Amino acid sequence: MSQPGITTWLPPNDIADRFRNDGETIKLASTDYGHIVQEIPAKVFHPTSINDTASLIKFAYNNSSVPITIAARGRGHSVRGQAMARNGVVVNMTSLENRINGSGISVSTSPSLGYYADAGGEQLWIDVLHATLEHGLAPVSWTDYLYLTVGGTLSNAGISGQTFRFGPQISNVHELDVITGKGDLVTCSTKENSELYYAVLGGLGQFGIITRARIALEPAPKRVKWLRMLYNDFSAFSRDQEHLISTNGRKQSNAFDYLEGLLLLDQGPPEVSFFPVPDHSRIISLVTKHSIIYCLEAAIYYDDHTQNKVDEELQVLLKGLSFLPGFVFEKNVSYVDFLNRVGSEEQILRSKGLWDIPHPWLNLFVPKSRILDFDSGVFKDIFLKQNIPSGLVIVYPMNRDKWDDNMSVIIPEEDVFYVVSLLRSSGFNNWEAFDRQNGEILQFCDNVGIKVKMYLPHYETQESWINHFGSKWVSFRERKAQFDPKMILAPGQRIFNK
Ligand code: FAD
Repeated sequence: MSQPGITTWLPPNDIADRFRNDGETIKLASTDYGHIVQEIPAKVFHPTSINDTASLIKFAYNNSSVPITIAARGRGHSVRGQAMARNGVVVNMTSLENRINGSGISVSTSPSLGYYADAGGEQLWIDVLHATLEHGLAPVSWTDYLYLTVGGTLSNAGISGQTFRFGPQISNVHELDVITGKGDLVTCSTKENSELYYAVLGGLGQFGIITRARIALEPAPKRVKWLRMLYNDFSAFSRDQEHLISTNGRKQSNAFDYLEGLLLLDQGPPEVSFFPVPDHSRIISLVTKHSIIYCLEAAIYYDDHTQNKVDEELQVLLKGLSFLPGFVFEKNVSYVDFLNRVGSEEQILRSKGLWDIPHPWLNLFVPKSRILDFDSGVFKDIFLKQNIPSGLVIVYPMNRDKWDDNMSVIIPEEDVFYVVSLLRSSGFNNWEAFDRQNGEILQFCDNVGIKVKMYLPHYETQESWINHFGSKWVSFRERKAQFDPKMILAPGQRIFNK
Protein backbone atom coordinates (compact mmCIF):
# COMPACT_ATOMS: atom_id res chain seq x y z
CA MET A 1 0.00 0.00 0.00
CA SER A 2 2.18 2.89 -1.18
CA GLN A 3 1.13 6.52 -1.24
CA PRO A 4 -0.05 8.03 -4.51
CA GLY A 5 2.66 10.18 -6.07
CA ILE A 6 5.43 8.59 -3.99
CA THR A 7 8.27 6.83 -5.77
CA THR A 8 8.44 3.24 -4.63
CA TRP A 9 11.54 1.16 -4.13
CA LEU A 10 12.23 -2.56 -4.07
CA PRO A 11 13.62 -4.02 -0.88
CA PRO A 12 16.92 -5.94 -1.08
CA ASN A 13 16.56 -9.73 -1.50
CA ASP A 14 18.20 -10.80 1.78
CA ILE A 15 15.64 -8.93 3.90
CA ALA A 16 12.70 -8.75 1.47
CA ASP A 17 10.51 -11.08 3.53
CA ARG A 18 10.84 -8.91 6.66
CA PHE A 19 8.67 -6.14 5.19
CA ARG A 20 4.91 -5.94 5.68
CA ASN A 21 2.38 -3.56 4.27
CA ASP A 22 -0.96 -5.14 5.09
CA GLY A 23 -3.63 -2.73 6.30
CA GLU A 24 -3.57 -3.84 9.94
CA THR A 25 0.23 -3.52 10.28
CA ILE A 26 0.32 -0.13 8.54
CA LYS A 27 -2.52 1.13 10.73
CA LEU A 28 -0.71 0.20 13.92
CA ALA A 29 2.49 1.91 12.78
CA SER A 30 0.53 5.06 11.85
CA THR A 31 -0.70 5.73 15.33
CA ASP A 32 0.67 6.13 18.85
CA TYR A 33 -0.43 6.64 22.45
CA GLY A 34 -1.16 10.31 21.72
CA HIS A 35 -3.81 9.58 19.06
CA ILE A 36 -3.21 13.07 17.72
CA VAL A 37 -0.75 12.57 14.85
CA GLN A 38 -1.18 10.05 12.05
CA GLU A 39 1.60 9.38 9.53
CA ILE A 40 1.31 6.45 7.15
CA PRO A 41 4.54 4.57 6.41
CA ALA A 42 5.25 2.84 3.10
CA LYS A 43 6.27 -0.37 4.86
CA VAL A 44 6.78 -1.87 8.28
CA PHE A 45 9.97 -3.85 8.89
CA HIS A 46 9.97 -6.88 11.20
CA PRO A 47 13.63 -7.71 11.87
CA THR A 48 14.59 -11.16 13.11
CA SER A 49 18.12 -10.06 14.04
CA ILE A 50 20.22 -6.95 14.57
CA ASN A 51 21.88 -7.67 11.21
CA ASP A 52 18.49 -7.34 9.50
CA THR A 53 18.12 -3.81 10.86
CA ALA A 54 21.72 -2.96 9.94
CA SER A 55 21.06 -4.23 6.37
CA LEU A 56 17.93 -2.10 6.15
CA ILE A 57 19.74 1.07 7.20
CA LYS A 58 22.72 0.28 4.92
CA PHE A 59 20.31 -0.18 2.03
CA ALA A 60 18.65 3.18 2.76
CA TYR A 61 22.05 4.85 3.14
CA ASN A 62 23.38 3.49 -0.15
CA ASN A 63 20.17 4.01 -2.10
CA SER A 64 20.69 7.13 -4.17
CA SER A 65 17.47 7.05 -6.21
CA VAL A 66 14.84 7.61 -3.48
CA PRO A 67 15.35 9.04 0.04
CA ILE A 68 14.18 6.41 2.56
CA THR A 69 13.47 7.36 6.16
CA ILE A 70 13.41 4.85 9.01
CA ALA A 71 11.81 5.05 12.46
CA ALA A 72 12.40 2.56 15.25
CA ARG A 73 9.11 1.94 17.02
CA GLY A 74 9.44 0.70 20.59
CA ARG A 75 5.86 0.46 21.79
CA GLY A 76 4.70 3.70 20.22
CA HIS A 77 4.14 5.30 23.62
CA SER A 78 5.10 8.66 22.17
CA VAL A 79 2.28 11.17 21.97
CA ARG A 80 3.19 13.23 18.87
CA GLY A 81 4.17 10.80 16.13
CA GLN A 82 7.83 10.62 17.18
CA ALA A 83 8.05 6.92 16.24
CA MET A 84 6.35 7.34 12.85
CA ALA A 85 7.81 7.63 9.34
CA ARG A 86 5.56 9.16 6.72
CA ASN A 87 6.11 7.17 3.48
CA GLY A 88 9.16 5.62 5.09
CA VAL A 89 9.85 2.42 7.01
CA VAL A 90 8.81 1.79 10.60
CA VAL A 91 10.95 -0.83 12.32
CA ASN A 92 8.79 -2.87 14.64
CA MET A 93 11.33 -3.36 17.44
CA THR A 94 9.10 -5.82 19.30
CA SER A 95 9.80 -8.49 16.70
CA LEU A 96 13.34 -8.69 18.20
CA GLU A 97 12.03 -9.31 21.70
CA ASN A 98 13.26 -12.85 22.21
CA ARG A 99 16.48 -12.81 20.33
CA ILE A 100 19.24 -13.53 22.93
CA ASN A 101 18.83 -17.17 23.98
CA GLY A 102 15.13 -16.56 24.07
CA SER A 103 15.43 -13.82 26.66
CA GLY A 104 16.91 -10.53 25.40
CA ILE A 105 18.12 -9.67 28.90
CA SER A 106 21.18 -11.14 30.59
CA VAL A 107 22.71 -10.35 33.98
CA SER A 108 26.49 -10.33 34.63
CA THR A 109 29.12 -8.82 36.87
CA SER A 110 32.60 -7.42 36.33
CA PRO A 111 35.23 -6.03 38.72
CA SER A 112 35.04 -2.56 37.17
CA LEU A 113 31.26 -2.25 36.68
CA GLY A 114 29.80 -4.42 39.42
CA TYR A 115 26.44 -5.96 38.50
CA TYR A 116 24.87 -5.02 35.19
CA ALA A 117 22.21 -6.18 32.73
CA ASP A 118 22.58 -6.30 28.96
CA ALA A 119 19.13 -5.60 27.55
CA GLY A 120 18.02 -5.34 23.94
CA GLY A 121 16.82 -1.88 22.93
CA GLU A 122 13.42 -3.43 22.20
CA GLN A 123 13.01 -4.87 25.73
CA LEU A 124 10.40 -3.52 28.11
CA TRP A 125 11.51 -2.19 31.48
CA ILE A 126 8.98 -4.48 33.19
CA ASP A 127 10.86 -7.44 31.70
CA VAL A 128 14.20 -5.95 32.77
CA LEU A 129 12.76 -5.75 36.29
CA HIS A 130 11.60 -9.38 36.35
CA ALA A 131 14.80 -10.73 34.76
CA THR A 132 17.10 -8.88 37.15
CA LEU A 133 15.01 -9.69 40.24
CA GLU A 134 15.70 -13.37 39.56
CA HIS A 135 19.28 -12.51 40.61
CA GLY A 136 18.15 -10.36 43.55
CA LEU A 137 19.17 -7.25 41.57
CA ALA A 138 17.44 -4.32 39.86
CA PRO A 139 18.21 -1.07 38.04
CA VAL A 140 18.04 2.00 40.29
CA SER A 141 16.45 4.54 37.97
CA TRP A 142 12.97 4.02 36.56
CA THR A 143 10.05 5.57 34.74
CA ASP A 144 6.61 5.67 36.37
CA TYR A 145 5.29 3.22 33.79
CA LEU A 146 7.30 0.11 32.91
CA TYR A 147 5.76 -1.00 29.60
CA LEU A 148 8.16 1.31 27.78
CA THR A 149 11.18 0.09 25.83
CA VAL A 150 14.79 0.47 26.86
CA GLY A 151 15.65 2.14 23.52
CA GLY A 152 12.62 4.43 23.69
CA THR A 153 13.28 5.84 27.17
CA LEU A 154 17.04 6.12 26.66
CA SER A 155 16.32 8.21 23.55
CA ASN A 156 14.55 10.69 25.85
CA ALA A 157 16.00 10.43 29.41
CA GLY A 158 13.83 8.11 31.50
CA ILE A 159 12.72 10.00 34.61
CA SER A 160 10.77 9.23 37.76
CA GLY A 161 10.90 9.76 41.51
CA GLN A 162 14.35 8.13 41.70
CA THR A 163 15.95 10.74 39.40
CA PHE A 164 16.82 13.26 42.15
CA ARG A 165 19.05 10.65 43.73
CA PHE A 166 20.23 8.28 40.99
CA GLY A 167 19.91 10.47 37.90
CA PRO A 168 17.73 9.68 34.89
CA GLN A 169 17.99 6.28 33.22
CA ILE A 170 20.51 7.72 30.73
CA SER A 171 22.87 8.36 33.67
CA ASN A 172 22.80 4.65 34.54
CA VAL A 173 23.99 3.08 31.28
CA HIS A 174 27.56 1.82 30.97
CA GLU A 175 27.60 0.94 27.29
CA LEU A 176 25.44 0.76 24.17
CA ASP A 177 25.35 -1.06 20.85
CA VAL A 178 24.00 1.28 18.20
CA ILE A 179 23.33 0.94 14.47
CA THR A 180 24.15 4.36 13.07
CA GLY A 181 22.46 6.07 10.13
CA LYS A 182 25.19 4.61 7.92
CA GLY A 183 24.22 1.08 8.92
CA ASP A 184 27.34 0.45 11.06
CA LEU A 185 26.91 -1.49 14.29
CA VAL A 186 29.06 0.34 16.88
CA THR A 187 29.70 -0.34 20.57
CA CYS A 188 30.05 2.88 22.52
CA SER A 189 30.63 4.08 26.09
CA THR A 190 32.34 6.98 27.83
CA LYS A 191 35.66 5.38 26.85
CA GLU A 192 34.94 3.94 23.40
CA ASN A 193 33.26 5.94 20.60
CA SER A 194 32.16 8.35 23.30
CA GLU A 195 30.80 10.94 20.85
CA LEU A 196 28.18 8.44 19.68
CA TYR A 197 27.40 7.34 23.26
CA TYR A 198 26.72 10.91 24.41
CA ALA A 199 24.81 11.73 21.21
CA VAL A 200 22.43 8.76 21.48
CA LEU A 201 21.53 9.20 25.17
CA GLY A 202 18.64 11.64 25.12
CA GLY A 203 19.21 11.94 21.35
CA LEU A 204 15.57 11.45 20.27
CA GLY A 205 16.56 8.55 17.98
CA GLN A 206 18.50 10.88 15.66
CA PHE A 207 21.88 9.16 15.61
CA GLY A 208 21.26 5.44 15.63
CA ILE A 209 19.06 2.57 16.70
CA ILE A 210 19.98 1.27 20.16
CA THR A 211 20.18 -2.52 20.00
CA ARG A 212 21.70 -3.17 23.42
CA ALA A 213 22.14 -1.20 26.61
CA ARG A 214 24.35 -2.21 29.54
CA ILE A 215 22.38 -1.06 32.57
CA ALA A 216 23.82 -0.61 36.08
CA LEU A 217 22.25 -2.84 38.76
CA GLU A 218 22.18 -2.83 42.54
CA PRO A 219 20.81 -5.34 45.07
CA ALA A 220 17.02 -5.07 44.90
CA PRO A 221 14.98 -4.13 47.96
CA LYS A 222 11.93 -6.24 48.82
CA ARG A 223 9.42 -3.76 50.15
CA VAL A 224 8.48 -0.10 50.04
CA LYS A 225 6.93 2.35 52.50
CA TRP A 226 4.99 4.64 50.20
CA LEU A 227 3.84 7.98 51.62
CA ARG A 228 1.58 10.81 50.57
CA MET A 229 1.38 14.09 52.48
CA LEU A 230 -1.02 16.92 51.72
CA TYR A 231 -0.34 20.68 51.59
CA ASN A 232 -2.56 23.65 50.86
CA ASP A 233 0.41 25.96 50.37
CA PHE A 234 2.64 25.55 47.31
CA SER A 235 5.63 27.31 48.93
CA ALA A 236 5.60 24.86 51.83
CA PHE A 237 5.14 21.92 49.46
CA SER A 238 8.01 22.87 47.15
CA ARG A 239 10.27 23.88 50.07
CA ASP A 240 9.79 20.41 51.59
CA GLN A 241 10.38 18.71 48.23
CA GLU A 242 13.60 20.67 47.71
CA HIS A 243 14.74 19.96 51.25
CA LEU A 244 14.16 16.22 50.79
CA ILE A 245 16.00 15.98 47.45
CA SER A 246 19.03 17.74 48.93
CA THR A 247 19.90 14.43 50.66
CA ASN A 248 20.78 12.52 47.54
CA GLY A 249 23.97 10.45 47.76
CA ARG A 250 23.55 7.11 45.95
CA LYS A 251 24.64 5.14 49.02
CA GLN A 252 23.33 7.58 51.63
CA SER A 253 21.13 6.38 54.45
CA ASN A 254 18.39 8.58 55.91
CA ALA A 255 17.27 9.65 52.44
CA PHE A 256 14.13 8.92 50.46
CA ASP A 257 14.61 6.55 47.51
CA TYR A 258 11.84 8.17 45.52
CA LEU A 259 10.16 11.57 45.56
CA GLU A 260 7.42 12.99 43.38
CA GLY A 261 4.36 15.20 43.86
CA LEU A 262 0.97 15.73 42.31
CA LEU A 263 -1.98 18.09 42.35
CA LEU A 264 -5.47 17.39 43.59
CA LEU A 265 -7.66 19.93 41.83
CA ASP A 266 -11.26 20.86 42.42
CA GLN A 267 -12.35 20.03 38.87
CA GLY A 268 -14.74 17.20 39.50
CA PRO A 269 -14.08 14.39 41.98
CA PRO A 270 -10.32 14.22 42.73
CA GLU A 271 -8.49 10.90 42.33
CA VAL A 272 -8.25 9.62 45.91
CA SER A 273 -7.94 5.86 45.46
CA PHE A 274 -4.49 5.84 47.13
CA PHE A 275 -5.96 6.99 50.43
CA PRO A 276 -7.85 4.86 52.98
CA VAL A 277 -11.58 4.85 52.19
CA PRO A 278 -12.60 6.36 55.59
CA ASP A 279 -10.43 9.41 54.75
CA HIS A 280 -11.87 10.06 51.30
CA SER A 281 -14.55 12.50 52.37
CA ARG A 282 -12.25 14.73 54.47
CA ILE A 283 -9.69 14.80 51.65
CA ILE A 284 -12.35 15.71 49.09
CA SER A 285 -13.63 18.47 51.44
CA LEU A 286 -10.08 19.80 51.74
CA VAL A 287 -9.76 19.95 47.94
CA THR A 288 -13.14 21.68 47.62
CA LYS A 289 -12.19 24.20 50.30
CA HIS A 290 -8.80 25.17 48.83
CA SER A 291 -9.40 24.44 45.12
CA ILE A 292 -5.88 22.96 44.90
CA ILE A 293 -4.15 20.59 47.26
CA TYR A 294 -0.51 19.65 46.69
CA CYS A 295 0.41 16.07 47.46
CA LEU A 296 4.03 15.19 48.21
CA GLU A 297 4.71 11.55 47.38
CA ALA A 298 7.80 9.82 48.72
CA ALA A 299 9.00 6.29 49.22
CA ILE A 300 11.66 4.46 51.11
CA TYR A 301 12.78 0.94 50.27
CA TYR A 302 13.62 -1.75 52.77
CA ASP A 303 14.25 -5.47 53.08
CA ASP A 304 14.61 -8.11 55.80
CA HIS A 305 17.82 -6.55 57.15
CA THR A 306 16.52 -2.98 57.32
CA GLN A 307 12.95 -3.77 58.35
CA ASN A 308 13.57 -2.88 62.01
CA LYS A 309 15.03 0.51 61.24
CA VAL A 310 12.73 1.76 58.48
CA ASP A 311 10.09 3.36 60.69
CA GLU A 312 12.72 5.14 62.75
CA GLU A 313 14.32 6.43 59.55
CA LEU A 314 10.95 7.65 58.31
CA GLN A 315 10.34 9.58 61.51
CA VAL A 316 13.67 11.37 61.05
CA LEU A 317 12.83 12.19 57.41
CA LEU A 318 9.39 13.55 58.25
CA LYS A 319 10.64 15.74 61.09
CA GLY A 320 10.20 19.44 60.37
CA LEU A 321 8.07 18.97 57.25
CA SER A 322 5.11 21.34 56.87
CA PHE A 323 2.32 19.10 55.56
CA LEU A 324 -1.17 19.62 56.97
CA PRO A 325 -1.37 17.95 60.40
CA GLY A 326 -3.25 14.66 60.16
CA PHE A 327 -2.83 14.45 56.39
CA VAL A 328 0.03 12.00 56.04
CA PHE A 329 -0.82 8.54 54.68
CA GLU A 330 1.30 5.45 54.31
CA LYS A 331 1.10 2.23 52.34
CA ASN A 332 3.34 -0.77 52.67
CA VAL A 333 3.74 -2.60 49.36
CA SER A 334 6.12 -4.95 47.57
CA TYR A 335 8.89 -3.39 45.47
CA VAL A 336 7.39 -4.84 42.27
CA ASP A 337 3.90 -3.53 43.05
CA PHE A 338 5.33 -0.11 43.78
CA LEU A 339 7.33 0.09 40.54
CA ASN A 340 4.47 -1.36 38.50
CA ARG A 341 1.81 0.93 40.00
CA VAL A 342 0.86 2.51 36.66
CA GLY A 343 0.56 -0.94 35.06
CA SER A 344 -2.31 -1.66 37.46
CA GLU A 345 -3.98 1.65 36.56
CA GLU A 346 -3.61 0.79 32.88
CA GLN A 347 -5.73 -2.32 33.38
CA ILE A 348 -8.48 -0.26 35.02
CA LEU A 349 -8.42 2.39 32.27
CA ARG A 350 -8.42 -0.25 29.53
CA SER A 351 -11.42 -1.95 31.06
CA LYS A 352 -13.27 1.39 30.88
CA GLY A 353 -12.15 2.11 27.29
CA LEU A 354 -10.08 5.05 28.56
CA TRP A 355 -6.59 3.96 27.45
CA ASP A 356 -6.66 4.21 23.64
CA ILE A 357 -7.90 7.79 23.51
CA PRO A 358 -6.12 11.09 22.70
CA HIS A 359 -3.42 12.22 25.12
CA PRO A 360 -2.59 15.90 24.59
CA TRP A 361 0.27 15.77 27.09
CA LEU A 362 2.71 18.51 27.95
CA ASN A 363 5.89 17.77 29.91
CA LEU A 364 8.05 20.66 31.01
CA PHE A 365 11.24 21.19 32.96
CA VAL A 366 10.83 24.38 34.99
CA PRO A 367 13.78 26.15 36.70
CA LYS A 368 13.46 26.16 40.50
CA SER A 369 13.78 29.97 40.66
CA ARG A 370 10.44 30.35 38.80
CA ILE A 371 8.39 27.45 40.13
CA LEU A 372 6.31 29.74 42.39
CA ASP A 373 5.45 31.90 39.36
CA PHE A 374 4.51 28.76 37.46
CA ASP A 375 2.19 27.73 40.30
CA SER A 376 0.42 31.08 40.42
CA GLY A 377 0.26 31.59 36.63
CA VAL A 378 -0.59 28.06 35.52
CA PHE A 379 -2.05 25.99 38.37
CA LYS A 380 -3.94 28.76 40.14
CA ASP A 381 -4.81 30.89 37.12
CA ILE A 382 -5.00 29.03 33.80
CA PHE A 383 -6.14 25.71 35.32
CA LEU A 384 -8.67 27.00 37.81
CA LYS A 385 -10.18 29.66 35.57
CA GLN A 386 -10.80 27.43 32.56
CA ASN A 387 -13.18 24.55 32.48
CA ILE A 388 -10.69 22.08 30.96
CA PRO A 389 -9.82 19.06 33.10
CA SER A 390 -6.12 19.16 33.89
CA GLY A 391 -5.88 15.38 34.23
CA LEU A 392 -3.01 13.99 36.26
CA VAL A 393 -0.53 16.77 37.06
CA ILE A 394 2.82 15.63 38.40
CA VAL A 395 5.31 18.10 39.93
CA TYR A 396 8.68 17.25 41.45
CA PRO A 397 12.22 18.59 41.56
CA MET A 398 15.50 16.99 40.52
CA ASN A 399 19.20 17.79 40.79
CA ARG A 400 21.11 18.89 37.69
CA ASP A 401 24.37 17.34 38.90
CA LYS A 402 22.84 13.87 38.39
CA TRP A 403 22.67 14.58 34.63
CA ASP A 404 25.57 14.57 32.18
CA ASP A 405 25.77 17.71 30.08
CA ASN A 406 27.64 15.87 27.30
CA MET A 407 24.47 13.96 26.51
CA SER A 408 21.97 15.26 23.97
CA VAL A 409 19.11 15.76 26.43
CA ILE A 410 18.15 19.36 27.21
CA ILE A 411 17.44 20.55 30.76
CA PRO A 412 17.33 24.01 32.41
CA GLU A 413 20.57 25.67 33.51
CA GLU A 414 19.73 25.78 37.23
CA ASP A 415 21.09 23.33 39.84
CA VAL A 416 17.55 22.28 40.76
CA PHE A 417 14.66 22.14 38.30
CA TYR A 418 11.18 20.70 38.37
CA VAL A 419 9.41 18.38 36.00
CA VAL A 420 5.78 19.39 35.50
CA SER A 421 3.84 16.72 33.61
CA LEU A 422 0.33 17.50 32.42
CA LEU A 423 -0.86 13.98 31.66
CA ARG A 424 -4.27 14.71 30.23
CA SER A 425 -6.72 12.54 28.33
CA SER A 426 -9.39 13.90 26.05
CA GLY A 427 -12.05 12.78 23.62
CA PHE A 428 -11.29 12.33 19.92
CA ASN A 429 -13.23 15.51 19.14
CA ASN A 430 -11.90 17.90 21.74
CA TRP A 431 -8.14 17.36 22.09
CA GLU A 432 -7.55 20.69 20.31
CA ALA A 433 -9.04 22.57 23.28
CA PHE A 434 -6.51 20.86 25.57
CA ASP A 435 -3.76 21.59 23.11
CA ARG A 436 -4.74 25.24 22.95
CA GLN A 437 -4.40 25.39 26.72
CA ASN A 438 -0.96 23.79 26.42
CA GLY A 439 -0.10 26.55 23.97
CA GLU A 440 -1.39 29.15 26.41
CA ILE A 441 0.81 27.72 29.18
CA LEU A 442 3.88 27.93 26.94
CA GLN A 443 2.92 31.46 25.93
CA PHE A 444 2.52 32.46 29.57
CA CYS A 445 6.01 31.12 30.36
CA ASP A 446 7.42 33.01 27.41
CA ASN A 447 5.65 36.24 28.35
CA VAL A 448 6.92 36.26 31.93
CA GLY A 449 10.37 34.89 31.07
CA ILE A 450 10.16 31.42 32.67
CA LYS A 451 12.79 29.51 30.71
CA VAL A 452 11.10 26.13 30.50
CA LYS A 453 12.45 23.22 28.45
CA MET A 454 10.10 20.64 27.03
CA TYR A 455 10.62 16.98 27.98
CA LEU A 456 9.53 14.47 25.27
CA PRO A 457 9.71 17.57 23.05
CA HIS A 458 7.69 18.21 19.92
CA TYR A 459 7.91 21.29 17.74
CA GLU A 460 6.59 22.24 14.33
CA THR A 461 9.49 24.34 13.06
CA GLN A 462 13.25 23.98 12.99
CA GLU A 463 13.49 27.43 14.54
CA SER A 464 11.69 26.10 17.62
CA TRP A 465 14.07 23.17 17.75
CA ILE A 466 17.08 25.49 17.53
CA ASN A 467 15.61 27.46 20.41
CA HIS A 468 15.03 24.23 22.36
CA PHE A 469 18.63 23.07 21.97
CA GLY A 470 20.07 26.54 22.61
CA SER A 471 23.86 26.39 22.89
CA LYS A 472 23.78 22.64 22.19
CA TRP A 473 22.18 23.00 18.75
CA VAL A 474 25.48 23.26 16.85
CA SER A 475 26.88 20.06 18.36
CA PHE A 476 23.52 18.28 17.90
CA ARG A 477 23.55 19.21 14.21
CA GLU A 478 27.21 18.22 13.82
CA ARG A 479 26.54 14.87 15.45
CA LYS A 480 23.65 14.35 13.04
CA ALA A 481 25.99 15.07 10.10
CA GLN A 482 28.49 12.58 11.52
CA PHE A 483 26.21 9.66 12.44
CA ASP A 484 23.20 10.06 10.17
CA PRO A 485 24.33 12.31 7.33
CA LYS A 486 21.45 11.35 5.04
CA MET A 487 18.88 12.15 7.77
CA ILE A 488 17.35 8.71 7.58
CA LEU A 489 16.53 8.10 11.25
CA ALA A 490 13.57 9.08 13.46
CA PRO A 491 11.89 11.46 10.97
CA GLY A 492 8.79 11.61 13.22
CA GLN A 493 10.68 13.92 15.61
CA ARG A 494 10.59 16.51 12.79
CA ILE A 495 13.93 18.04 13.75
CA PHE A 496 15.69 17.61 10.42
CA ASN A 497 12.81 16.16 8.35
CA LYS A 498 9.78 18.34 7.70
P1 FAD B 1 8.48 4.94 21.08
O1 FAD B 1 7.40 5.89 21.39
O2 FAD B 1 8.16 3.80 20.21
O3 FAD B 1 9.74 5.74 20.46
C1 FAD B 1 10.16 6.98 21.01
C2 FAD B 1 11.27 7.59 20.14
O4 FAD B 1 12.45 6.83 20.30
C3 FAD B 1 10.96 7.58 18.64
O5 FAD B 1 11.58 8.69 18.05
C4 FAD B 1 11.60 6.30 18.18
O6 FAD B 1 11.94 6.36 16.81
C5 FAD B 1 12.83 6.24 19.07
N1 FAD B 1 13.23 4.86 19.39
C6 FAD B 1 12.46 3.83 19.80
N2 FAD B 1 13.23 2.75 20.02
C7 FAD B 1 14.49 3.12 19.75
C8 FAD B 1 15.75 2.45 19.80
N3 FAD B 1 15.86 1.17 20.16
N4 FAD B 1 16.85 3.14 19.44
C9 FAD B 1 16.77 4.44 19.08
N5 FAD B 1 15.63 5.12 19.00
C10 FAD B 1 14.50 4.47 19.35
N6 FAD B 1 8.75 8.80 30.31
C11 FAD B 1 9.53 9.05 31.36
O7 FAD B 1 10.69 9.45 31.21
N7 FAD B 1 9.07 8.86 32.63
C12 FAD B 1 7.84 8.37 32.89
O8 FAD B 1 7.48 8.20 34.04
C13 FAD B 1 7.00 8.09 31.79
N8 FAD B 1 5.75 7.60 31.99
C14 FAD B 1 4.98 7.30 30.92
C15 FAD B 1 3.72 6.75 31.14
C16 FAD B 1 2.91 6.40 30.08
C17 FAD B 1 1.55 5.81 30.34
C18 FAD B 1 3.37 6.64 28.76
C19 FAD B 1 2.50 6.31 27.59
C20 FAD B 1 4.61 7.19 28.52
C21 FAD B 1 5.43 7.53 29.60
N9 FAD B 1 6.70 8.08 29.42
C22 FAD B 1 7.50 8.34 30.50
C23 FAD B 1 7.15 8.50 28.09
C24 FAD B 1 8.04 7.49 27.42
O9 FAD B 1 9.35 7.59 27.94
C25 FAD B 1 8.07 7.78 25.94
O10 FAD B 1 6.80 7.48 25.42
C26 FAD B 1 9.13 7.04 25.19
O11 FAD B 1 8.97 7.40 23.84
C27 FAD B 1 9.16 5.53 25.33
O12 FAD B 1 8.11 4.87 24.67
P2 FAD B 1 8.40 3.67 23.67
O13 FAD B 1 9.43 2.78 24.25
O14 FAD B 1 7.11 3.11 23.27
O15 FAD B 1 9.13 4.43 22.46
